[in-house]
Amino acid sequence: MQTADLLVHDAELIATVDDARREIAGGWVAVTDGVVTALGGPGDPAPEAVRRVDARGCLVTPGLVNTHHHLYQNLTRAYAPALTGGLFDWLVTLYPLWARLDEEAAYVSAYVGLAELALSGCTTSTDHSYVHPRGAGDLISAEVAAARELGVRFHPTRGSMSLSVKDGGLPPDSVVQDDDEILADSQRMVEAHHDRTPTAMTRIALAPCSPFSVSTSLMTRTAELAEALDVRLHTHLAETQDEDAFCLETFGRRPVDYLADVGWMTDRTWLAHVVWPDAEEVVRLGAAGVGAAHCPSSNMILGSGLAPVAELRAAGAPVGLGVDGSASADSASLWLEARTAMLQGKLRHGAAAMSARDALEIATRGGAACLGRSGEIGQLSVGACGDLAVWSLEGVRFAGALSDPVESWLRCGPVSSRETVVAGRLVVADGAVTHPGLDEQLAVHRRVSQRMQAAVD
Ligand SMILES: [Zn+2]
Repeated sequence: MQTADLLVHDAELIATVDDARREIAGGWVAVTDGVVTALGGPGDPAPEAVRRVDARGCLVTPGLVNTHHHLYQNLTRAYAPALTGGLFDWLVTLYPLWARLDEEAAYVSAYVGLAELALSGCTTSTDHSYVHPRGAGDLISAEVAAARELGVRFHPTRGSMSLSVKDGGLPPDSVVQDDDEILADSQRMVEAHHDRTPTAMTRIALAPCSPFSVSTSLMTRTAELAEALDVRLHTHLAETQDEDAFCLETFGRRPVDYLADVGWMTDRTWLAHVVWPDAEEVVRLGAAGVGAAHCPSSNMILGSGLAPVAELRAAGAPVGLGVDGSASADSASLWLEARTAMLQGKLRHGAAAMSARDALEIATRGGAACLGRSGEIGQLSVGACGDLAVWSLEGVRFAGALSDPVESWLRCGPVSSRETVVAGRLVVADGAVTHPGLDEQLAVHRRVSQRMQAAVD
């Protein structure tokens, strides 16, 4: 048997979340050249390995997938003047600060934000980077550089805003761009960074910010460009009841009808939030295969509402999890989002309605489906990417939790991963980020945050 690069062995349980949802007590998983090459139980001979991780007393899961985030927002986390507004007030308060974004801010916020996510077992993250101030430079390439430095799988989206205050939108003029400039840069980002191979570390999607921040023609032309380039589409939709009112007043349509009008009802699309579709719209979204990035903490902290997750899944829509921006959800732990999704599922439909296994499935396979990567990430099976998280079930938090490692993992806690592995490499080991630059980047982050939060003249 070939020597593996990494062997994670003697796990309390491996929850593979594979097609058969196999759970292997006492299991092991081997990763070579970045992909899972073998898995087995205590009776199966494991290969020799260059590096071994002893997972006794641990649950091993696929790496979690974050399907919605705005990494730059960790520069304005828990910003005091914006703590009590709903979505629209919150945005109007923060846009002038975000207008100070530059490449240094993009790099350091991505570095710190992706490190934070890795500590919560996340191995693949998206980012919705939609603020591109004039003269700010190439923000997405700066983020891609940070993700490569850390070794995390990264799907940034080329976000955009084209309607400013003078056009009836919310953002100031300095952070919006015209349609041609946005589309040209979108194409350039795809050409520069989009990797189509099954083990890709970087992929790009196209992502106008929301129906209330871009023109109708930009929504339509972005869908056409995504089709031509064969990349995915992302935007915020149906987040609040204010948005329903805005769309009815501006377009004479509800958000989902508007989405259909601009050519976005395809399985190329995944949407952030999807809190307020009505029953008939849920069925249409599911039939079209439109995915949803469920952001439970953000939806609570902004008072947006309880998303119809069970209904969307039953209708056939892929549902993944998103931590959302660090300025709206403030904590960026995917473990916490999985737990909160479980609690919200129970709150909405009763105690039996969502188990820890359902939440794990959303956090892994569901996210992979949203990103068009089913079979590549979000499961532990031979040939899938070697992305996994090792969660210790020992110590004070887990005392007495003996009967079900998966339920224990999400009900007890709070927890961070003990190891987070991306493509067979340890990004987190013994509960700490392995990259040596973290302390230095935290110091830079503090300086850049202070600059961004300085009083606006
Ligand atoms: Zn968002």
